[in-house]
Amino acid sequence: MGMRKFLFLKYSEMTTTTKAFGVQNENAPLKPLEIKRREVGDNDVKLEITYCGVCHSDIHTARNEWGGSKYPVVPGHEIIGHVTEVGKNVSNFKKGNVVGVGCMVDSCQECTQCKNHLEQFCEKGATFTYNSADKHIKGQQTYGGYSKTVVVDKEFILKIPNGLDEAGAAPLLCAGITTWSPLRHWNVKKGDKVGVIGLGGLGHMGVKFANALGAHVTMITTSPSKAEDAKKLGAHEVLLSNDAKAMKTHANSFDFILNTIPVGHKMDPYLSLLKVDATMVLVGAIEPLDPFNGGRLIGGRKRVAGSLIGGIKETQEMLDFCGEHNIVSDIEIIDINNINEAYDRVVKADVKYRFVIDMNTL
Ligand code: NAP
Ligand code: ZN
Repeated sequence: MGMRKFLFLKYSEMTTTTKAFGVQNENAPLKPLEIKRREVGDNDVKLEITYCGVCHSDIHTARNEWGGSKYPVVPGHEIIGHVTEVGKNVSNFKKGNVVGVGCMVDSCQECTQCKNHLEQFCEKGATFTYNSADKHIKGQQTYGGYSKTVVVDKEFILKIPNGLDEAGAAPLLCAGITTWSPLRHWNVKKGDKVGVIGLGGLGHMGVKFANALGAHVTMITTSPSKAEDAKKLGAHEVLLSNDAKAMKTHANSFDFILNTIPVGHKMDPYLSLLKVDATMVLVGAIEPLDPFNGGRLIGGRKRVAGSLIGGIKETQEMLDFCGEHNIVSDIEIIDINNINEAYDRVVKADVKYRFVIDMNTL
């Protein structure tokens, strides 16, 4: 293009292409794609992605299980990378820094929720890392971390504490904050009896954090084969949810339950586990739940609540806590060419306990 035309373009209309992996429709396997990224604007940070975790939400979105997926979908919101370029208004990040990007890349920054550091509930709608309308490239949706590079507003870049393993830190950006935030919001403390349902990516971080906060942790699982691992991760007890007798012995005993089951399910058996005034927080099932008995809540003034990731400030606090306590995820590093097999294993609850893509393999 001629220089004159070039000068009339806004920076946001200038793009570069980068390699990525994604899907073209809901039934397609993931395969290599080329996508556009914007040029670095004044408030932007560009990173070369080194690792990206594989969240069950990536699968729900790639396969349009929640509806609303726009194709192509390039998943990935547990991003670790090295800063390669910063805009002129960026002072707290520089070339070479190890940084993270989680589930959000933008929000209005002005509404009550944003001002309260709850950007995930932005009144104008947060821009999520993938499958949101891209504010910078017209007509395109955001593309996630299964790619070589990404350009993100400086307010949505997280510092990764020195000394944390980069690959193991990737899942902290979603699985970490999604479990940390409800444990903190509902004030889980030393001595509380906490249950974590589902030993997958989120659940294993929930166990680690609840243990680090001093709680007595019970892993509630459908998989007897995971019992030993659950204890290594920090669970004091393991409860098999399909063992009715064992469930009965734990009835009315939990102060707090974090429920990570990724699909709709029967609630009654889990509600029976809560003490008077105790809360079960859902983070997994977005779809309709099986009908549950109001009496389970009424008899005991029990509560069911929900929680969505966490704000940027809280995500940084969680990362700093992980730095101090040397907490990272237990991961299996994969080649991006094995991503489709990894998806199938996650769906079969056969992940120990998070897949992380080595982005050098792209
Ligand atoms: P994951 O790695 O697949 O783990 C889910 C675990 O739940 C499985 O390993 C399994 O553990 C258990 N499970 C699976 N199906 C079950 C069923 N039908 N009944 C009972 N237990 C079942 O998934 P994840 O990445 O941790 O994500 C969990 C869910 O949270 C997903 O739906 C994801 O989209 C969602 N999510 C929500 C947020 C948020 O902000 N709220 C953020 C991230 C992810 P056992 O073998 O131990 O039973
Ligand atoms: Zn996620």
